[in-house]
Amino acid sequence: MVPVLLLTRGTGGGGTCPGDTRGRDTMQRSTRWPLVRKLAWDRDRKARAVCHLCGQPIRYDLKPSSDPESWEPDHVLPVSKYPELELDLKNIKASHMRCNRARGDDSYHKLDIGMQSRIW
Ligand SMILES: [Zn+2]
Repeated sequence: MVPVLLLTRGTGGGGTCPGDTRGRDTMQRSTRWPLVRKLAWDRDRKARAVCHLCGQPIRYDLKPSSDPESWEPDHVLPVSKYPELELDLKNIKASHMRCNRARGDDSYHKLDIGMQSRIW
């Protein structure tokens, strides 16, 4: 008779995965936003829509969000309060980048781009 040594090891069990708790952001950026944004840009550019915040014409020859006078989509009802309207074209109006950012009511990051009213 040969004594068999059984090595009893703890079978797995308490494995804790670090980083399992994913802090969910309250702001959910839809993956379809870039597409809707493009649709809004086409719509407003063809219609030559003016800025709905200041009523002035928008420079559609500039790339969107590239210049204070360039086009930027503005959510009439802020996405932070109405996330379901983020992709609703009726809720998106043409605005200047500067007007939209100055309003600062939306989910856009506040950029420190200063107030350049004119290119000298
Ligand atoms: Zn404006």
